[in-house]
Order: sequence, then C-alpha cells, then structure tokens
Amino acid sequence: MTDVTKNLELIRHQIRALERQYSRAERSVQLLAVSKKQSMEKIRAAVAAGQRDFGENYVQEALEKIAALSDLECQWHFIGPIQSNKTKAIAEHFDWVESVDREKIARRLSEQRPASLPPLNVCVQVNLSAEASKSGTTLKDSIALCQTVADLPGLRLRGLMAIPAPLSGLEEQRNSFRPLAEAYRELQSRLPGIDTLSMGMSGDFAAAIAEGSTIVRLGTALFGSRD
Ligand SMILES: *Cc1c(COP(=O)(O)O)cnc(C)c1O
Repeated sequence: MTDVTKNLELIRHQIRALERQYSRAERSVQLLAVSKKQSMEKIRAAVAAGQRDFGENYVQEALEKIAALSDLECQWHFIGPIQSNKTKAIAEHFDWVESVDREKIARRLSEQRPASLPPLNVCVQVNLSAEASKSGTTLKDSIALCQTVADLPGLRLRGLMAIPAPLSGLEEQRNSFRPLAEAYRELQSRLPGIDTLSMGMSGDFAAAIAEGSTIVRLGTALFGSRD
C-alpha cells in the first residue's frame, strides 16, 4: 500500500468516527482531496483507492493535471483566489468553484460556462476573520452574493466555503466556524438546493465536522507536505 492509500483509509475512518461522535448523519461529510503541488502519481493512487473529488488552487497547474488525468473519473474543485482573466479556463474545465467572492467573477463564470456542460457548482467564499489580505466576501454580504449566484443560468449555487485563520484549540476552532454554520442554515431557509458547507482543513477538520461541515478539504493530511 502507498502512503496515500493508507492515509486515505485512516482519514475515512476518522471522518466516520467524527460523524458518530458529533451526531452527524452517516456519510454527511465528504472528503475533498486537495492536490495542489502534489504529484500525478499521488493523485492516481488516491483515485485507485476510490477518491473522486480533488481541489486545486492554481489554474495553470490544475489544467495540466486535468488534461493528464482525463482518463480518470475525477471531479475537480477550484478552491483558490480567482483573477478575472482566469474565469474562462475555470468555467470550461472545473466541476465546482468554491471560491467565488464577488459578483463580477460570478457573472463571468456563468457567461463562460459552456452550454454543453451542466451548470458549474458554486460555493460563495466567506472571509471569517475579516482580514483585508484574505479573499472572501463578508458574512454580511454573503447572502446577497448567494442570491446573485442562484439567479445566474450557468451556475448552480450549492453553499458556502471559508478558510478561518489557523487556531490550535478545538473550542477556539469550533467558535471560529460557528458563524459560517449559522449563515449556512440561514441560507438554507431562504434558497432551495443549498447542501454544501465547505469548511475544515488538515489542522481543524474535527472542529469543522462538529460544527456541521459537509466537505472537509484535506491536503497535507492525505498527501504529505507540499513541494
Ligand atoms: C491548501 C488548501 C487546503 C488544504 O490545506 P491542508 O492544510 O494541506 O489540508 C484546503 N483549502 C484551501 C482553500 C486550500 O488552499
């Protein structure tokens, strides 16, 4: 067994155990394998072990991987900051975009989504720590942006994503995720089809699952450290 195969098995067990521990429905938490700066061999090993969803942050790197691995049945999620000149490539080659944080980007992705493909699945990225340097809309503005995304024909709004500032204690981590979970429930009460709360990375996915995450995005825990 490769390290990736072993790690994947371990992570799946951890996720199932956390679902039980926090009274979450069985299989309500999905694993997104964050493969940025990881080799094709490791991605192939993960696919061979049954992993289907992969997350990438850099468009050029991702396009090379998507082309090289086109023989496999993968779902590709774009999770990095989005520049306007990259929306066309993203709209044409990805299944999901989890990092939509402004209306202009949402409109371009919708216009550039090829009619031959199903609508692009979208999560609106929220900046929980309100740091100017990080991407993401404010919690306050997130509902309006979600409404805009929901009305665009090339997009299918699925929910919210966030990357909180790294914290070490479980309680601190849970507190940082809670406002996003509340916004998610509010969104579910207002719009149909909202089923995705993407939060939790290698260092904080237990807290994220405790707070209701439906996608955890794991890179280093699965693939090891990045180049
Ligand atoms: C890199 C990245 C991850 C994975 O981080 P790890 O700490 O390696 O698990 C998750 N989400 C986003 C948006 C990332 O950029």
